[in-house]
Amino acid sequence: MLSPVVTEKSEQLVQLDAGEPAAVTQTPLFGLDAEALTARMVAAGEPAFRGKQLAEGMYRQRLTALEELTTLPKALRQRLALGGWEVGRPRIAQVFKSVDGTERYLIECRGGDAQTVEAVWMPEGDEGESGDGTEMDEAQEAGKSWTRATICVSSQVGCAVNCQFCLTAKLGLQRNLTAGEIAGQVIAILDRHAVEVGRDRVNLVFMGMGEPFLNFDNFMAAVRLLVKEAGLSPQRMTVSTSGIVPGIERFAQEPAEVRPKLAISLNAPNDEVRSELMPINRKWPIEAVMDAVRQVRLRSRERITFEYVLLGGVTDQVKHAREVARLVRRSGLPAKVNLIAWNPGPGIAYDQPQAGDVEAFRLTLLDAGIPAYLRKSRGRDIFAACGQLKRTVEG
Ligand code: SAH
Ligand code: SF4
Repeated sequence: MLSPVVTEKSEQLVQLDAGEPAAVTQTPLFGLDAEALTARMVAAGEPAFRGKQLAEGMYRQRLTALEELTTLPKALRQRLALGGWEVGRPRIAQVFKSVDGTERYLIECRGGDAQTVEAVWMPEGDEGESGDGTEMDEAQEAGKSWTRATICVSSQVGCAVNCQFCLTAKLGLQRNLTAGEIAGQVIAILDRHAVEVGRDRVNLVFMGMGEPFLNFDNFMAAVRLLVKEAGLSPQRMTVSTSGIVPGIERFAQEPAEVRPKLAISLNAPNDEVRSELMPINRKWPIEAVMDAVRQVRLRSRERITFEYVLLGGVTDQVKHAREVARLVRRSGLPAKVNLIAWNPGPGIAYDQPQAGDVEAFRLTLLDAGIPAYLRKSRGRDIFAACGQLKRTVEG
């Protein structure tokens, strides 16, 4: 998807020695995988291994400037710069720190225009994502204030899906993010926290702004970059969708070595309520979503996550929990339910659920044999919690 611009620039790269001054707008190398980088290096008359070196420099060493890529000869770095290339990794432009350790970032993408994207760092992870306890017993990492963490990643600026309870929906869809912009959020945050890939326990959740399955190609290209070039495990990644059936069907075709885990935003006990809260349900109702999800070949012990936002009085009653339990059981899927108490936002007229109702809901699911976790609300004070991402600049 980056190819139109890149092709043009790679031609320039062949004739780099023209001695032209660097173009005002540089083209990012970040976002290209080792194969694409290799092709560009070969086209420029360089040995093929330079592509691999570039990929390692950007995605493993997390370097951000051509001058830092010292595995490449200085002359080549200069030729690249003159040819209009730069590393061009998305940059953390602003940080909001929550009292609970959560950090929300405004990340500036290419061109430095006003369109920033949001991502969130949650140290100690999010109990909702890994609340099955399997990740709790890792040894404390010396010198780090966290033992594990979760990064929440955006896939679009804004969102077109228009769920009635979600603040991101208010933005509408501004634009899709490129693969480099999606993966760049992760690499920039790993860098900021000196994460050692392969040693530190970091989970990725594609649950920030946007609907990943309405930007499917870029989303999956970003996952491949993160897995193949940066060395992250897809089994530590979860993508959440509002139920875009064609997207789920394509996702089901992805090979296991690059397929993240799947979460479905169920959010309602039946089609009637769901269609009101999530208009997308009129196009793809619950059964159509379940049919698509059943096409995914799960790994051993893998479960589908159903996310369920509890709206006070609307979806949080015991009778709703019973319906949800029936629905999940009927699906025949190995599943767990992540409950999320609704986070309020300006201009959205719902109520937060009462603590007692939340607990009664969870116990009803557990009694019915459905694993159910309450996702801790993180970073609400900095507008970092679920459904609150809206490029809010006021801290
Ligand atoms: N667009 C995707 C992923 C981003 S939303 C999706 O909808 O699945 C991530 C999760 O946050 C979804 O499960 C969504 O239902 C939930 N969410 C949205 N707004 C929320 C709010 N105000 N409070 C709590 N959860 C919310
Ligand atoms: Fe979009 Fe997800 Fe928000 Fe719905 S909940 S509007 S799909 S970001």
